[in-house]
Amino acid sequence: MTEAPTGQPQADCLFCKIVAGEIPATVVAETATTLAFRDVSPQAPTHVLVVPRSHHENAAAVAEAEPGVVADLFTTARAVAEAEGLGGDYRTVFNTGAGAGQTVFHAHLHVLGGRPLNWPPG
Ligand code: IMP
Repeated sequence: MTEAPTGQPQADCLFCKIVAGEIPATVVAETATTLAFRDVSPQAPTHVLVVPRSHHENAAAVAEAEPGVVADLFTTARAVAEAEGLGGDYRTVFNTGAGAGQTVFHAHLHVLGGRPLNWPPG
């Protein structure tokens, strides 16, 4: 299948379908440019994914096409952390590439918190 241009909804993209409301998700925050919903396989008491409403394969692609949306992802992450009562202690992660653990190729910012988080990550 030919891929849609970056920024446009992609037919076979899970997170585009969540943004469109075609697949259910537990939404915890939203803005004009972002949507935040709980990860189905949480790795911490709070594990939320913040995605751009527009489709981009990874964080760098969002930054290149819509730099302001990257800022929106982080301010949405902060709002989620505050709403979850994390007291300013939380981790934000973008995995880029399958070798780094990316499994969904629609950019998403993981927001993790609610337990001690070790460094370095695995
Ligand atoms: P990645 O491995 O960094 O690409 O993160 C993808 C994340 O999406 C994983 O943490 C998955 O648990 C999560 N995930 C996969 N399918 C769904 C879903 O349908 N709803 C919410 N989260 C999902």
